Amino acid sequence: MSVVISSISESLQTFLATGGVPQKVYSKIIVLVDTNTKRFCYPIVKEFLPKHTLISIKSGEEHKNLQTCEIIWSAMTEAQLDRHALMINLGGGVIGDMGGFCAATYKRGIDFIQIPTTLLSQVDASVGGKLGIDFHGFKNHLGVFTLPKAVLIDPVFLKTLSEREKRSGFAEILKHCLIQDGEKWNEIRRKDLVDQDLADLITHSVEIKKKIVEQDPTEQGIRKILNFGHTLGHAVETYFLDKGKKRLLHGEAIATGMLCESYIAFERGLLNEKTLEQIEDFIFSIYGKVPMQESDFEAIMSFTQQDKKNKGKEIRFSLINSVGSCLYDVVVSKTEMKKALEYYVG
Ligand code: NAD
Repeated sequence: MSVVISSISESLQTFLATGGVPQKVYSKIIVLVDTNTKRFCYPIVKEFLPKHTLISIKSGEEHKNLQTCEIIWSAMTEAQLDRHALMINLGGGVIGDMGGFCAATYKRGIDFIQIPTTLLSQVDASVGGKLGIDFHGFKNHLGVFTLPKAVLIDPVFLKTLSEREKRSGFAEILKHCLIQDGEKWNEIRRKDLVDQDLADLITHSVEIKKKIVEQDPTEQGIRKILNFGHTLGHAVETYFLDKGKKRLLHGEAIATGMLCESYIAFERGLLNEKTLEQIEDFIFSIYGKVPMQESDFEAIMSFTQQDKKNKGKEIRFSLINSVGSCLYDVVVSKTEMKKALEYYVG
């Protein structure tokens, strides 16, 4: 998996000149953007792109669905893309996941590259080949594992990103430290978000994720540790996706999940109290508290039944057993989940 962190003008021009490895001359190029990345990111790369077709879709998680895929596949068909075409996904995790999914399934698959433009997609979503969309309200319910030809990361795109979106992406950085690097965790937990060296943390996160994914590309074992915080996190995110509720960003939900799941680890004697308190203090200082109450718990817990790590009726979690180390396939009961949610709301 080729991941390049450098100036996009250089990395994109190099990729297009060489066509990646093995060398390839693309018949057509299609660029996928959303309303925001069309405005903020497309102007940065436009001048380096040869003739191409631009597809723009509405931004936001609520559009990561089959209806939008149909719009994308229709545009690809209208542009008469053959199997030698290249798709460039220019955007955050939604564009990368959904554009990659459309590319991987169009005519049984065409090449695509990811140019992630949010912190979350630079440190996580663009690396590892998980592609997909939400379905009937379930997160990433339909999808495939297919690697992009390249991931081209440039922190320059983050200049136009809102502070809330940066905070969301930072949750996956936190996760990478908590599951793999205790030293880095101790470094970042002492600083506010504005004082963090994001360029350094992007490289750090990409290295960790890439190393894990290369050992287990289709998540049969060790890759599951990347789901720390995601079982309850996805459930909370899905719960708040419902119309009428205040939407949570992915990282905000995952931060909630990481704290709840750290509590489960603590209750099981895997994590000591001091570490739990450090995690709690840091997460609350950055993300505040998601407004949940006891009456929400049943519905939230019901979403964990659709978690992709489950086996049969068992709800399987990835739980840290110290900072920098994580277990996976840990069967967790409904009672434990409820206690963790109760602990979170305080
Ligand atoms: P996103 O793609 O919705 O982007 C967030 C917002 O920022 C959008 O409104 C977008 O238009 C805007 N935006 C993007 N780049 C911008 C820029 N440079 N300047 C200004 N605005 C910009 O969401 P996200 O947080 O990037 O990603 C979340 C998605 O990623 C979720 O769907 C999640 O499931 C997925 N994800 C996937 C993986 C994976 O391994 N495939 C891992 C983690 C998350």
